Amino acid sequence: MKRSNFRIIPLPTEIAEAARRAVTVGTADHALITASSPGSSPCRHCLRWAQPGERVILFPYAAIPSGRPYAERGPIFVHAEKCERYRATDEYPAEFRNGRVFRAYDLNYNLIDAQVVNGSEPETVIQELFENPETAFVDARSVTHGCFTFRVQRA
Ligand SMILES: [Zn+2]
Repeated sequence: MKRSNFRIIPLPTEIAEAARRAVTVGTADHALITASSPGSSPCRHCLRWAQPGERVILFPYAAIPSGRPYAERGPIFVHAEKCERYRATDEYPAEFRNGRVFRAYDLNYNLIDAQVVNGSEPETVIQELFENPETAFVDARSVTHGCFTFRVQRA
């Protein structure tokens, strides 16, 4: 098996845990939701879709920090119950092979390129974006909803 040239960076556990604490004290921008259909609520911590009946927390996350032109804060889900952070970080997460757009950023968080997976493999698109030496990281987002899904760094 060939070594991947990338590393998947799921949401840090501290952020998932903070969201779980925030929702228990009724923080206004943290909503507790029961997933109603498969493929509606991707957990950014374990990188799996919530199954119908599973509870998830919806809250805003600053994927690109404030104070920069491309600053971006948007809604993400994590499982309401403890889940295991995605561990196979040298493998592209199987549940997100479709419906993602990949945005390449430089070291200063400027958006420098973006590609939709169109018939090719996501690994190929990621590799192409990293061929640009300016690319510091790549963010996978929902192609329809725009929401941040996970980050990809060079291996
Ligand atoms: Zn999860």
